[in-house]
Amino acid sequence: MKNLIERAARDLINSSYAVALTGAGISTESGIPDFRGPSGIWTKDPEAEKRAYQTYHKFLTNPKEYWEERLARPLLGDLGKVEPNPGHYALAELEKMGILKWVITQNIDNLHQKAGNKNVLDYHGNYSKLRCRNCGNRFDSKGYNLEKLKEEGKLPPLCPVCTEPLKADVVHFNEPIPLDVAKQSREEVLKCDLMLICGTSAVVYPFAELPRIAKERRVETESKTESGLYLVKKISATTIIEINAEPTPLTYERISDYLIQGKTGEILPKIVEEVKIHSL
Ligand code: NAD
Repeated sequence: MKNLIERAARDLINSSYAVALTGAGISTESGIPDFRGPSGIWTKDPEAEKRAYQTYHKFLTNPKEYWEERLARPLLGDLGKVEPNPGHYALAELEKMGILKWVITQNIDNLHQKAGNKNVLDYHGNYSKLRCRNCGNRFDSKGYNLEKLKEEGKLPPLCPVCTEPLKADVVHFNEPIPLDVAKQSREEVLKCDLMLICGTSAVVYPFAELPRIAKERRVETESKTESGLYLVKKISATTIIEINAEPTPLTYERISDYLIQGKTGEILPKIVEEVKIHSL
């Protein structure tokens, strides 16, 4: 394990454009359950997963009921009260050091921003915002008293720009990823030469496609053989490191170069410490 932590630190120091991909696993140490880990919400309650597949359809067909159900049964509890953990803070420190350029997260909990990361792409949206499907504008949910709208029978909230019903910014199953985020995430992935994948089972698409896109990007290397000929090899342009409690399809399919198995809240701070030691 120590060797792998040192290796990750050196890879980060030698990288010129590192991005992190994160999932629910990085937030479990803040007290938010994941979906598919051993104590995940859906591992324990498969019916909740089935219901989640209906949510987007519900918004499209009956936005009032969508909001009533959402307010009555928030899937992840009150996220406003949750604090970042050492894993989030370690990524924020890597950004401050100029090593980490972007975090692309599947999480909706706003904890990377709370920990201090400035460059965050919320691939599946952010619980603290509402979004208009029609004009694409996002609004801070603090500007909407949803409980009051419910009491007054005024749900759903309406877009102040185009008057269409607003939905939560959170992306539901069967809902397309908003174009702006999908486009920029892809651009960052095509630029990166190091990808740090933290706390994701990597089974939700299209997010799980991002490491595969990075892996496909190739660079040519040239070396001189003993006979004086030049040998040109095409190798992956991106070093891919996974930090996860368990192996994932990315591990088994050798998309990641190596897995550091364990908790992100313990491993990421150790990597940052090593980065500091080796970059002195
Ligand atoms: P997932 O539940 O499918 O997988 C989480 C992975 O993280 C598992 O492999 C688990 O073993 C691992 N893990 C759990 N705790 C860990 C820890 N402390 N350190 C390292 N690894 C740990 O999560 P996913 O891949 O992100 O996909 C689930 C979807 O659900 C995402 O789209 C996300 O939007 C949503 N979700 C978000 C939150 C959140 O915002 N915090 C929470 C639950 C689900």
